[in-house]
Amino acid sequence: MPVFAALLTTIALLAPAPRPHIVQKRIPFPPRRERETRSYAIRHYGIHTFKLRNPKVIVEHFTETTSFAPVWNTFARDVPDVELHELPQVCAHFVIDRSGRIYELVPPNIMCRHTVGLNWTAIGIEHVGMSDAQVMGDRRELRASLALTRWLQSRYGILTRNVIGHSESLSSPYHRERVASLRRQTHADMQHATMVRYRRLLRAR
Ligand SMILES: [Zn+2]
Repeated sequence: MPVFAALLTTIALLAPAPRPHIVQKRIPFPPRRERETRSYAIRHYGIHTFKLRNPKVIVEHFTETTSFAPVWNTFARDVPDVELHELPQVCAHFVIDRSGRIYELVPPNIMCRHTVGLNWTAIGIEHVGMSDAQVMGDRRELRASLALTRWLQSRYGILTRNVIGHSESLSSPYHRERVASLRRQTHADMQHATMVRYRRLLRAR
């Protein structure tokens, strides 16, 4: 019964989720980085802004680090990234550490480079950890992640099917990329099987 299912989805979206505690730990985002982000958006998406408006997707990642500090330091230093050698430096809006502390590094109304093809419409959440299993197995980190994601969903009206893992980026209906060599580029973090479980936990909240 698709109509009934759609109604349930709507009811779930309307249910306001409480804002979890968020520690403000902003990376510098001076006018130079804003200009670089705008240039990136023009090159990759054909849109002329560094602003993130009406986000439709949340992408979950893990950091491949064991702590928060090196993640902040990498994102804060605005030099070309080590993988694609492009400016601005990569970043994510939020990082959650293993104690369940949520840090906001970039406000969600500014674009961050965290997922090729989706940065124009996606909020990025990084989890401190070395694997999907570690993130999913850490009770405090996972609880904070679900609370943050639920709150962002209710704030922006983002459907649970659009809460995806980085490894699922190419199958998102929102994926778009103007640079041909990057059209199939993705990463292996937060696999489909992990995200099936993650989305089930989200829906159960
Ligand atoms: Zn990732």
